[in-house]
Amino acid sequence: MGHPDDLLLLPAGALLFREGETGDAAYQIVRGTIEIFLEQDGAEVVLARRGAGEIIGEMAIIDRRPRSASARVAADCALTPITAAQIERRIAATDPILRMCLGIVIDHCRETLALVRGEGGQAHPSAPASAPGPAFQAAVDVLRLERELTRALQQGQLAVFLQPLVSLASGRLTGFEALMRWHHPEHGLILPGRFIGVAEASGLITRMTEWCLGEVARAYAALDTAARLGGGAEGPLVVSVNVSGHDLSQPAFAARVEGILAEAGMPPEGLSLEITESILMRDPAGAGAVLDACRRRGIGIAIDDFGTGYSSLSHLSTLPISTLKIDRAFVQALGSDAKSTRIVGTILRLARDLGIPAVAEGIETAPQATQLAALGCACGQGFLFGRPAPLLTALQVARDWRPADAGPGARRAAAG
Ligand code: C2E
Ligand code: CA
Ligand code: CA
Repeated sequence: MGHPDDLLLLPAGALLFREGETGDAAYQIVRGTIEIFLEQDGAEVVLARRGAGEIIGEMAIIDRRPRSASARVAADCALTPITAAQIERRIAATDPILRMCLGIVIDHCRETLALVRGEGGQAHPSAPASAPGPAFQAAVDVLRLERELTRALQQGQLAVFLQPLVSLASGRLTGFEALMRWHHPEHGLILPGRFIGVAEASGLITRMTEWCLGEVARAYAALDTAARLGGGAEGPLVVSVNVSGHDLSQPAFAARVEGILAEAGMPPEGLSLEITESILMRDPAGAGAVLDACRRRGIGIAIDDFGTGYSSLSHLSTLPISTLKIDRAFVQALGSDAKSTRIVGTILRLARDLGIPAVAEGIETAPQATQLAALGCACGQGFLFGRPAPLLTALQVARDWRPADAGPGARRAAAG
């Protein structure tokens, strides 16, 4: 409830606004009745009566067009004004699809009003507010992508690519990161940057994560065996899978992951889940409980893109984290930017103090690998050691891995 001074008090008969005027506010009726009417050939047509609790005058604010009808106080009123700025701020912050739907609903209202006025076919004296513009088109494109992605999941168009992770001290293979790809029937190979956001917004991501976990779990034995036979691995491989906030908001997530691993016979110690700081900070308590349940089952937890998001050191010490992944922005600025070099040093000291190994992402050059090894970074990942590749290629990479090739400085970026 607002302060009484914030209320607009109007006696019966007062005109609140007139058709054609520019709207600067909507109103909630606290007490009294408002009549909404049109003037036609000198006569008035009452369209509606609104009472306590209802909102009036919102249309002209939302579509920024003149009032579509007039409003008059029918019984003494107390109104809470809601300013155009207040409404516009909230609309701007909302989901683009919702915004588009709202625009369409208002267009339809205006059309109906035009019909009541007898304007028939002239429903749109000017273009409708939700006429296809770039924002409208972008919203529709997202909806189409969402449908295509649902089909992609059903029709096997998604693929898991695997990128090697390497011990920077020994050059041996430690595991792979699973990265999703979409073989689109028309557009070819699509990178996750184009579709993970849509998958998260639509909730489809939870099914995609489970699918990805299943693919990894079924491939694990072959990968680990190839690495063991090849003799270039540090120990049993660890394959990491990226998870989203949606996954962690489900209390049963850990049990489901356990079920997927058990069905395929993959040991939980062979899996690491990668989570970004921003996901963790959205609901630290909820995410913490789910991660604890995963960790108790032997699954590793890696903080992804570390250093780019907002993170609280107190959460870092209470969450069951087993790896810190240093974002590639810092790695790629190593050497050329003193600040990034200091940040990498600080993250590595933090990891050491917490007793957890760090992985540097996005290593593209031998000097970067050498410098990170010298700074005490345990593991690395990047084009220098190998690009993300389909399972068959990853099996060859695991079998043929030669530590000497990947030792600080030696290995050339794999093609592909
Ligand atoms: P990420 O988890 O940080 O994954 C690492 C990204 O860096 C990958 O991009 C990888 O191809 C790229 N990368 C690796 N080494 C290098 C390098 O040396 N140089 C450069 N420039 N890039 C390198 P990708 O595969 O396009 O994935 C982008 C992001 O999409 C991932 O970032 C991750 O956040 C998300 N993502 C990928 N797969 C999944 C998934 O299955 N589930 C979820 N939830 N997110 C995923
Ligand atoms: Ca990742
Ligand atoms: Ca990352």
